[in-house]
Amino acid sequence: MKEEENSHSSPIDRYVRQTVFAPLGPEGQRRLAAARVLVCGCGALGSTMANMLARAGVGWLRIVDRDYVDLHNLQRQVLFDEEDAAGRRPKATAAAAHLAQINSDVAIEPIVDEIAPGNIERLIEGVDVVVDGTDNFPTRFLMNDAAVKHGVPWIYGGCVGTQGQTMTIVPGQTPCLRCLLPECPAPDSIPTCPTHGILGPTVGIIAALEAIEAMKIASGNLTVVSPVLAVVELWENRIQQLSLAGLRDRADCPACKHGRFTWLDG
Ligand SMILES: [Zn+2]
Repeated sequence: MKEEENSHSSPIDRYVRQTVFAPLGPEGQRRLAAARVLVCGCGALGSTMANMLARAGVGWLRIVDRDYVDLHNLQRQVLFDEEDAAGRRPKATAAAAHLAQINSDVAIEPIVDEIAPGNIERLIEGVDVVVDGTDNFPTRFLMNDAAVKHGVPWIYGGCVGTQGQTMTIVPGQTPCLRCLLPECPAPDSIPTCPTHGILGPTVGIIAALEAIEAMKIASGNLTVVSPVLAVVELWENRIQQLSLAGLRDRADCPACKHGRFTWLDG
């Protein structure tokens, strides 16, 4: 009898292991169901986060990626399979198809496109939180400009090799990405996954840190968002939390102090 009741469970029962977690609770779950999240990039970080957020019952995900699934993605991009790679499916639509099988309650809007000055403000419109699944700083600076301009929280994250970092930006409350990095790093000054590799567990950790921050924000728990830059180096066993408090009163950030959004202007 009990089994039968369970098979016709209410939507909230599906999330019972979340709702019994007191800081989230049924009210937090209802907020997640009503939340809209923009996933920028659906490679390793983006697909892992989309998987976690859809399973958690975030009600609506807009997933943007211009790329196609390749066999060498499967080592770390947990949402995709060999059929996706054989069919060279767009990552955004392949992700949407898999997520629909995982949680049919979630509305997914896949967009196969590049994130650019001409579309980022449209992409961010009506969204409660943005998660970073991109692989380059020019796109992150663009996301930062759009998020700060429109007052939308976003979570920066990146990883290469066994190193990764993440930071939560709540416009008006925390430093933004340009407070941390006034200038965009030159492309050849930083290691990339094609040149330096990437191990799956690095992705898992950074994606998890970003996803929990998105869940806090989407469920209305802004008071507990992370106030630090989290940095991990997993091969050498270092996990650090670097304070951002010194950046908060910076008066010279073009984006969050002066409202100059140079990246949006292209
Ligand atoms: Zn700033």
